[in-house]
Parts: sequence; structure tokens; C-alpha cells
Amino acid sequence: DLIPGTDDSMTEADGGEGEDSCSIMVAVRVRPYSQRELSDPNVKRVVSMGGNETTVTTDGGNVHRFAFDFSFWSFDQENGDFACQGQVYTSLAQPLLGKAFEGYNTCLFAYGQTGSGKSYSIMGHGQDTGIIPRFCEELFSRAVRASNKDKVKISVEISFFEIYNEKIHDLLASSKEKNGKKATLKVREHPVLGPYVEGLSTFVVNSFEDVEGWITLGTKNRATAATGMNDKSSRSHSVFTIVLTQTKTERVENQDHDHSITSKINLVDLAGSERQSQAQTTGERLREGANINKSLLTLGKVISVLAERSMASKKRKLFIPYRDSVLTWLLKESLGGNSKTAMIATISPSHHHQEETLSTLRYPLCNAPSLS
Ligand code: ADP
Ligand code: MG
Repeated sequence: DLIPGTDDSMTEADGGEGEDSCSIMVAVRVRPYSQRELSDPNVKRVVSMGGNETTVTTDGGNVHRFAFDFSFWSFDQENGDFACQGQVYTSLAQPLLGKAFEGYNTCLFAYGQTGSGKSYSIMGHGQDTGIIPRFCEELFSRAVRASNKDKVKISVEISFFEIYNEKIHDLLASSKEKNGKKATLKVREHPVLGPYVEGLSTFVVNSFEDVEGWITLGTKNRATAATGMNDKSSRSHSVFTIVLTQTKTERVENQDHDHSITSKINLVDLAGSERQSQAQTTGERLREGANINKSLLTLGKVISVLAERSMASKKRKLFIPYRDSVLTWLLKESLGGNSKTAMIATISPSHHHQEETLSTLRYPLCNAPSLS
């Protein structure tokens, strides 16, 4: 599904030449009731799903219908009618792994209000592993197969950081503290390779077990930084990046020639999408709330422009506001150009959250396939 190249006026690197392919897949996942909701006799389930359609019937009786690529259900477990972690992985993330091996850059985002299941979907909970560990595990099993069968040498490098208040913190560096505060890293832009985080720790990993160790450390660092900071983890984006390089050596006229393709995979647990309540919007918190909203808003704009661009049949020049937030700036090369994107929108089933649920379902493609 290649679409005609459309240059974005901000980048020279990916230019207007050549074929530009971009596609976005969106899934909705409703979490089961929490213990608290289960023990509330007045709780109402406002979400229902059928096929790829998600319906929200609000307390007031209004019906809102949405269609996405996938709808992941969490009720009726006794009938087997619910989407487990494996199914979410297979539908949404596994195709991205295939695309990464084909050389595409890929991104996967979890979007939704705090408590709706973003981290559960992206990272998992205990034995119930989520997308990142499953992705890494399959990446290494494919890598082993590729090196045995096709004599392709594979190298994998990972990094893990969070963006809080438009500032970047390395989640894998334990010794970079300045005056007891975590060092803040800056975005730089390489003329050819594009934006990157200056000084970010990157590690070469040789097995899934290697990756697991870094995931554990990063998750721990994220949680530690969050304590005592008004649940910072719900206000920060975390970005787990995998750089996959495949090298094939060919022998031509008695000489070895290496061909490498590199693809970047970003697996992102976004900050909570809930609107900040009036009471909290002063001083530092106001700035923080504004930063989160701005970066989620910018991401929404970038994704909807890219989606529009991939649907536009003729070459059109569309402005993509990558630089309006640190997150989109850093992901520029992985969102535009030669890339594949997936989004999992996580929602609560209960009437308590119906307004946030509707705003999640309207993001980012507010004018895309809503059926009513
Ligand atoms: P978020 O990261 O969006 O703030 P979490 O992923 O932490 O939310 O989820 C909140 C709680 O709900 C956690 O205890 C999590 O284990 C649970 N949960 C979320 N989604 C599911 C799901 N699909 N199935 C089972 N439990 C879930
Ligand atoms: Mg979370």
C-alpha cells in the first residue's frame, strides 16, 4: 500500500523523492471492571462491542458508535469472548514486527486516561506480559531463524526514556544524577539521521533475557521517580526504542559486500489523557498539564495529518507540526516517511468515565470512521 511521496516542509532528510508509505492501525481495548467498580452496586457498563464496532451508550441515553481496526473486549471471560494479552499482541504488534524486519520504522502508542490499561497493554502485569516483552521475545526468535536460514546477521540495540514536562530522562542510566536530580537530556537533530536524544544510554542486547533485565530496571526507575510526585508516571510518556540492524554479506567477484538495513521501533506508553481538574491547575501543575495536553494534541495532529496524507490520492503538501512537542519531534523519522504506526486506545467500561471514554475514542482521528 505505497502512497505517493509528499514532502513535509520541515524535513530535508526524508525529502519529497521516492515512494512514501505510511499507514496507521487503531485498536480499542476496554478493561474489565476494577475491584472498586465491582463492589459498586450502581456501576453501569456503558461500553459494548461487536465486530470492529465500539458503542458507548451514555447514562443520558445517547448512543455513540465508532469503528476501528480492532475492538478488544474484556467481559464474558467465561464464554471465552475476551481479548487476552496474546490476542492483542498478535493483532496489533506482531504485524509491526514483520514490517520492522522488512525495513520499516514503526511506532506503537497506548493512549487513554489514567487507569484504563495503557501500561497493562504495553508492559503487562506479572505473568500477564504485554506488548513490549512479547515483541522482544519474538524478535529474538526470528533473529535466530534469520541467521540460521538466510545467513543474516542481526544486531539489536535498545534504549528506554521518559518525557516529563517536555524534559527527557534516561530510564536506563542509574548514575547520571546531578545534585540528587536526574539529569535532563536534550534533543539534537542530525542532518541525515534526524532527531535524537543526546547522551541517551543505548545497549546492545543479544537475547530476550538481556532485554528483560533492562525492562525491569527501566520500569523500576520509572516507578521510583514517580513516588511522591503526584503520580508522575501518569503524567509522563515512556518510550522504549529498539534499533534493529540486519546485515547480509554477499560475495561478488571474490569480495564480500555487506548490505545493512536498519529499522527503528518505538513502543510508547503515553501520559494519561484525562483533562486536568480545575482545582489542580495552578503554578507548576498548570504548566505540567499544559505540556501533557500539548504533546498529546500535537501527536493527534501529526497522526491525523499522516492518515489524511495516506488517504489523499494525489501529491499534496501538508504541514506536519513535528516540532511542536518533544515526543513528536523525536519520533519524526518513525512517524512520517517509511513507517507503520499502531495505536491502542484504552478505555474504562463504566459510566463514571464516559466523558473521558468518548474523548479517547474521538482521538486522534476525530473525523475518521465514526458511524454516527
Ligand atoms: P494506565 O497505565 O492506563 O494508567 P494500568 O495499565 O495501570 O492503567 O491499568 C490499571 C489497572 O487495571 C491495573 O491494575 C491493571 O492490571 C488493570 N487492567 C487494565 N487493563 C486490563 C485488562 N485488559 N485486563 C485485566 N486487567 C487490566
Ligand atoms: Mg500506566
